[in-house]
Amino acid sequence: MANGRESVYGMTQRQFDYATQFIKLKHGIRDMLRYPKRELIVNFPVKMSDDSVRIFTGYRVHHSTSRGPTKGGIRYHPDVTLDEIRALAMLMTWKCAVVDIPFGGAKAGVICDPKKLTREELEHLTRRFTTEISIMLGPERDIPAPDIGTDEQVMAWIMDTYSMQKGYSVPAVVTGKPVSMGGSLGRSEAPGRSVAIIAQQAAKYSNINLDHATVAVQGFGKVGSTVAQCLAESGYKIVAVSDSKGGIYNSRGLAPAAVKEHRKEAGTVLGYRDADIITNERLLELPVDILVPAAVEMQITGDNAERVKAKIIVEGANAPTTPDADRILEERGILVVPDILANAGGVVVSYFEWVQDLQVFFWDERDINARLEKVMVNAFKNVVAVREEKKVDLRTAALILAISRCNEAIMTRGIYP
Ligand code: NAD
Repeated sequence: MANGRESVYGMTQRQFDYATQFIKLKHGIRDMLRYPKRELIVNFPVKMSDDSVRIFTGYRVHHSTSRGPTKGGIRYHPDVTLDEIRALAMLMTWKCAVVDIPFGGAKAGVICDPKKLTREELEHLTRRFTTEISIMLGPERDIPAPDIGTDEQVMAWIMDTYSMQKGYSVPAVVTGKPVSMGGSLGRSEAPGRSVAIIAQQAAKYSNINLDHATVAVQGFGKVGSTVAQCLAESGYKIVAVSDSKGGIYNSRGLAPAAVKEHRKEAGTVLGYRDADIITNERLLELPVDILVPAAVEMQITGDNAERVKAKIIVEGANAPTTPDADRILEERGILVVPDILANAGGVVVSYFEWVQDLQVFFWDERDINARLEKVMVNAFKNVVAVREEKKVDLRTAALILAISRCNEAIMTRGIYP
């Protein structure tokens, strides 16, 4: 528990424990998957712009290597903790396994506030952190990606640092790079695009009539704005969106592209013409067909789940729904499509980027989006099949599928020596 609240790590382990009741796992294998495989803590110096030296703490956690090299983002945030990184690494293992790409999960974090660092300090910190964790990295070993507080420029510095140490360019060591140096087209929109693909599959599965389908999106950032735009293009009516300052609502529908333009100028969705202002709390309780929490974790909890009126919830953010809320929503017949399925498009297109880098052969965006759609639709069908066979909620079904695939890999490879 953190501040009386369950930690994200406690929550992910609780979800794992629940799902494993439905799977036959050897006792030791269960523990192997419940905890990370390896963790590195580094305290390292960075020369600051005023010539002082500051020590930063960072982590890299590999959760599982049973299905391939590890994959997962690097987070720069003042509140990063080792437990949070462990949880996010575990979620990455399940995410890769649900969509059946050959990676295990990893995550990294550095305790820092990137907004308070100069560009030069950010570059120094990134290059030194890359060097500190380089014993864990490599295109066949562990491939980082962006996360909160890091972007394609940070990925470019990581790629360059690793390459300088090798003596030749190694673009496949990291994904989410700029397209000009081996990044993939469609990578930055991929998580939002996959949430939209899955939302449409879930709507069809729940017999929601597309002609009248309404959508509310909490968090109009990279993921949320892409979901809103993709769903609006497919004919859904986006009635509400929000950011950390609050939300806007129009029962006749908002135009996501115009909201994005407004946000670019105003720095917030608030003040957009032709819409009423609502709070984030109220947005979560709107009577819509589809609710997409795409902001931060733990937004739908035991406290507000009773008041959620959406027919389906499609998780754009990581861990926006607590296990207590899951139980209430399931009892109330609200379908929750979990993060490890819905927003997995990011890691799927990261996988495509890695494949393109290794082949040194690049695909066009139409190809990438078509391949992404095929992977996502397939994953949705597989998760639904488990749900119907085991009579469980979709999160548990996705976990059962993911954990079973990891277990199969472990058992088939055998326990060394
Ligand atoms: P982002 O920073 O671009 O956007 C986040 C949005 O949420 C912003 O509009 C912000 O104002 C808003 N927000 C922050 N706190 C809020 C609060 N308390 N209430 C309402 N809105 C709030 O981030 P993003 O990349 O869009 O990520 C959003 C979520 O999706 C995160 O949980 C992230 O882990 C997850 N995710 C991101 C990716 C990716 O590649 N970007 C991939 C998978 C999952």
